[in-house]
Amino acid sequence: MPTRIITIDGPAGAGKTTVSKRLSQKLGCIYVDTGALYRGVAFEIMRQKINWEDDHVLEGFLETLDLNFLMEADRLVLMSSGRDISDYIRTPEISMLASSTSAKPQVRSALLDIQRNIARTKDAVFEGRDMGTVVFPEASHKFFLYADLAIRARRRFDEMSEETKNLSRVQKDMEKRDNNDSKRKSAPLKPAEDAVKINSTFLTVDEVVEKMLGYIEKAEQA
Ligand code: C5P
Repeated sequence: MPTRIITIDGPAGAGKTTVSKRLSQKLGCIYVDTGALYRGVAFEIMRQKINWEDDHVLEGFLETLDLNFLMEADRLVLMSSGRDISDYIRTPEISMLASSTSAKPQVRSALLDIQRNIARTKDAVFEGRDMGTVVFPEASHKFFLYADLAIRARRRFDEMSEETKNLSRVQKDMEKRDNNDSKRKSAPLKPAEDAVKINSTFLTVDEVVEKMLGYIEKAEQA
């Protein structure tokens, strides 16, 4: 039987991860944060000092890459060559490097099988930038979650723990990332034609999840 796949795409800070987690709990399935994979690539590029702008070097590096997810109760653990790197991939530097390196088609195709293999055997909520457009064009339900930039920056800022956090830097970095992600040639950030678009600027997480559940229920009854 085919699995039930729900995709949530959208810009940084729109609430995708929190919403995906909660929606997956309501639906009794797993959630997959595909941004973590792109962050994992960036982390290894930084750690191994890979000259990723050289296609030949990048391709050699991708052949050695061994990323995969471990599903723990409420947590998705990102493993790289058997080592848990989840705690190292959330820095502003990794965010920016992930945004630059994810524009490389070789990086995107290296991560395609990991994502599709999970979906082969498990019902899941997948969140990212190209879930509904490229990775799962046949998904059961597709959503595009967005919000005003200032609100998204504020939410991300509130989540950060470092003493040195700076709201205008968070907003600038977010804007730059959105720009990179939307303008790249390979799998740009955009809503799938058949995605339901939800503006989360004035909605709580619960309200977004309720809206999504409403759409899913309606579509499945039709
Ligand atoms: O979602 P998150 O902010 O963790 O993603 C980090 C970066 O990974 C994004 O800015 C984007 O460049 C890239 N990404 C992507 N495609 C996805 C998920 C993330 O290009 N499906």
